[in-house]
Amino acid sequence: MDGEFQDETIVCQDCGKEFVFTAGEQAFYKEKGLQNKPKRCRECRQKRKQAKNTMMQASDNSATSDTVVSKREF
Ligand SMILES: [Zn+2]
Repeated sequence: MDGEFQDETIVCQDCGKEFVFTAGEQAFYKEKGLQNKPKRCRECRQKRKQAKNTMMQASDNSATSDTVVSKREF
């Protein structure tokens, strides 16, 4: 079971930099049932997360129940 993962280098879709999708992260993804590899480096993911938070703070309560965001971006 363990040891089936190997660090993998992925090119970030946003900034074009290479980042490592580590064996540990791959195991985590598998555990969560995520089939898709991350497309963005940690930096860009954090930026996107922050942007999302900012948007949510900026928007009024019109989007309360509809805010079911896919967790695949983790
Ligand atoms: Zn990036």
